[in-house]
Amino acid sequence: MRRNPTRSVRIGAVSLGSVHPVAVQSMCATRTEDVDATVEQAEAIRRAGGALVRVAVDGPKDVEALKEVRRQTKASLVVDLQESYRLAEAVAPHVDKVRYNPGHLWHHEKAKPVREKVRFLVDVARGHDLAIRIGVNCGSVDPEMKARFPGDDVAAMVESALEHCRFMDEIGFERYVVSLKDSHPRKVIEANRRFAEARPDVPLHLGVTEAGIPPEGVIKTRVAFEQLLSRGIGDTLRVSLTLPNPRKHEEVTVGLQILADVAAGRFRSVPVFDDDKLNIISCPSCSRVENERFVDLALKVKEMTAYAERHALTIAVMGCRVNGPGETDDADLGLWCGPTHVNLKKKTESLGAYTYDEILPRLKKELDALIDARTVATTR
Ligand code: SF4
Repeated sequence: MRRNPTRSVRIGAVSLGSVHPVAVQSMCATRTEDVDATVEQAEAIRRAGGALVRVAVDGPKDVEALKEVRRQTKASLVVDLQESYRLAEAVAPHVDKVRYNPGHLWHHEKAKPVREKVRFLVDVARGHDLAIRIGVNCGSVDPEMKARFPGDDVAAMVESALEHCRFMDEIGFERYVVSLKDSHPRKVIEANRRFAEARPDVPLHLGVTEAGIPPEGVIKTRVAFEQLLSRGIGDTLRVSLTLPNPRKHEEVTVGLQILADVAAGRFRSVPVFDDDKLNIISCPSCSRVENERFVDLALKVKEMTAYAERHALTIAVMGCRVNGPGETDDADLGLWCGPTHVNLKKKTESLGAYTYDEILPRLKKELDALIDARTVATTR
């Protein structure tokens, strides 16, 4: 495959970018504290061909568990620092790369300039021979950036990534990669194309976040990856699917298949993802999932809403409070899971919290109301 001339970034024993093969990676959905389950899943991902395995770390117990995971797995490990960038120092001795989200970094310790927080992460990375991923997600772009580009999510994402690249460049740190993710393939294609044009030197990690349940989740991802990889864009990728834990490594199998198909010129997707139908987005889950019923709930939402297939509505199902509240804002109806209750939203408006047994009929009621309102509007 033709590849963009990105620079080489080493992550432990794996190198990304430049002439290195496009690496497929995945993320553990087990509780990081559960060392046995996390090691088992990391190994399953590695055996499936995953070059990097990401785990979430949210507190000291996760850090302790990570030490043991590192000892027991041969996988190259990446830690996802969402709201806990200060933990970078504690996790650094046990991993090869850290990922931070510029949007979350903005919210944390607001009085401190973002550039200072980036410098802290770079100092940690330098001190421990780590690489960094600047991971921008459409649902959590920092509010100042959003305000600068009203109504243009893609521009806000791209500018956020470029701003953080400038921080890295000013600090003189080159060992970083960038990702720009959204749940819609069109936005993923657009954001990555624009970014690659502006910064052809920076390796890109591709992903359609919250792509959801197979086969739709695979289709959305394939649409984006085929368009980007065939243009030489992408140095590593992750397929984010809502799958039960024993099947999590299938994300890697799907990623490798897409790569093989693109390399062989076998394109299966249509250029534009079908916007006229019901779109269910759901997160791939990770150790932050607040109730193990999440994957089952996502499957049931898909099953229950099958009758609404012809309606152009988006329903988002998210596993936790870290990304759930923000990443459901753009959906017509959003669910984000708490330990005992599921929070229901209509766009940004909260409709209350319901038990796992109550939520489906409540969701159906809202969905029916939305369909009725649209039908009335179109028959007027
Ligand atoms: Fe993990 Fe929460 Fe994101 Fe789902 S929404 S992948 S549980 S951080």
